[in-house]
Amino acid sequence: MHELSVAQGIVDIVKQHVPEHELQSVRAIRLKIGAVAGIVQDSLEFSFGVITAESPLAGAVLAIETVPFVVKCRQCGRESLNEQGIILCSYCGSSDTNVIAGTEMQIAAIEVEDPSPEAS
Ligand SMILES: [Zn+2]
Repeated sequence: MHELSVAQGIVDIVKQHVPEHELQSVRAIRLKIGAVAGIVQDSLEFSFGVITAESPLAGAVLAIETVPFVVKCRQCGRESLNEQGIILCSYCGSSDTNVIAGTEMQIAAIEVEDPSPEAS
């Protein structure tokens, strides 16, 4: 199951960026997933839940933003946007395009609950 390894990768990255004692304060992990990245969001959320269930990250959720598929036309210079991964320019019909978004999977932010004020 592809999403399981993706979810494990997310957990690994969070652990690299958040000190161990703060992992239980992670509230949300903001992801940007391209429309044609080949990731099933429900499946990813489910996998993440399974992996984190018995860990300090059990309280964290995935906040997923879908990034549309965008191609930039080399003929007319305009950007076409769709959810299907169509590489044709929707203005002039050219297939001479560059894919500029929609295939990525990025962690945009890791939201950690504000630490309680230090009693000093
Ligand atoms: Zn065009």
